[in-house]
Amino acid sequence: MLMIPGPTPVPEKVLLAMAKHPIGHRSGEFSQIIAETNANLKWLFQTKNPVLAIAASGTGTIEAAIINFLSAGDRVLVGTNGKFGERWAQISKAYGLDVQTITAEWGAPLNPDDFDKALSADTDKAIKAVIITHSETSTGVLNDLEAINRHVKTHGEALIIVDAVTSLGSHDIPVDEWGIDVIGSGSQKGFMLPPGLGFVTASDKAWAAYEKATLPKFYLDLGKYRKAAGQNSTPFTPPVNLYFGMKVALEMMQAEGLENIFARHTRHKEATRAAMKALGLPLFAPDTHASPAITSVVPDGVDAEKIRSVMKKRFNIALAGGQDHMAGKMFRMGHLGFVCDRDILCAISALEATLQELGHPAPASGVAAASDRLRQG
Ligand SMILES: *Cc1c(COP(=O)(O)O)cnc(C)c1O
Repeated sequence: MLMIPGPTPVPEKVLLAMAKHPIGHRSGEFSQIIAETNANLKWLFQTKNPVLAIAASGTGTIEAAIINFLSAGDRVLVGTNGKFGERWAQISKAYGLDVQTITAEWGAPLNPDDFDKALSADTDKAIKAVIITHSETSTGVLNDLEAINRHVKTHGEALIIVDAVTSLGSHDIPVDEWGIDVIGSGSQKGFMLPPGLGFVTASDKAWAAYEKATLPKFYLDLGKYRKAAGQNSTPFTPPVNLYFGMKVALEMMQAEGLENIFARHTRHKEATRAAMKALGLPLFAPDTHASPAITSVVPDGVDAEKIRSVMKKRFNIALAGGQDHMAGKMFRMGHLGFVCDRDILCAISALEATLQELGHPAPASGVAAASDRLRQG
């Protein structure tokens, strides 16, 4: 049972759809699948622009954003309050961008006022892009994308590039309405699919920047993907079986509806957090900025790695550990994608039993706290 923030569980219907011989990616039959999935991806991303699917992990989509819309020497403002934000700063440096970071402690949200200050001070409009991680999976913090984006819009020149890898499909992001310029995600997160596809979409403003951007690119040249998408095709051989699965997963998401999907993630986030509080397990991210995809816990008086080990050995439930300096100190429980109320209760009751086994019995019932919240719908 996968309770990690990616890969996430995949419905049997999707697995079965993929259990077929591949078909030719230039066939009419496959072109029909691309047409359908492209339309449904636009629905999911709440955009009129094409959502480009690349055979890459989530990181590939943000790297693509950096190399398609920027040029060497461009100044970028990168929000770093966890592992992924730090990665986007590293990639930007690797490509010779002039990187300015806005930092917050791991576990704290980025402060939108810091972006306001940096952008207001940039009167000669040297900042070409602001890169932020919406749901920072390494800490379980949900950054305030709407507020930061407002400051970027006031600046006027900079593009906003968003890592929505664990927020797309779990949290409402009205991409076109907010004027998000570039947004990337990955199939193994909120899409009920295995790893292998990255998704990225760009605004008209970003495509105008593409025309002038000079960083070298070839496989990740998004112009190639956009042109092919217009012809219900792909520039290179796509993972065709993943497309079979994606067709079914997107149909399932449409049947559930965006509002219901977001409400389910909110309910699971709140139930999980209520349970952790009842179990006496300290939460790493504040209630006001908690990711709908992942809950990070820093246990006190009981070893995080022992918790993960008992959960895995006795209950076959996989939890994620901490990353970088939080390794060994933290466990993270994913509740992203194909997750139902039963999964939450199951994971919480196993966690309660694990604490008991480790001689650290909980002060109150996590199951009762979670089920109270789940019952409220
Ligand atoms: C998973 C994840 C990524 C991408 O990781 P890949 O291993 O490249 O798919 C990027 N950002 C966030 C916030 C993530 O959770």
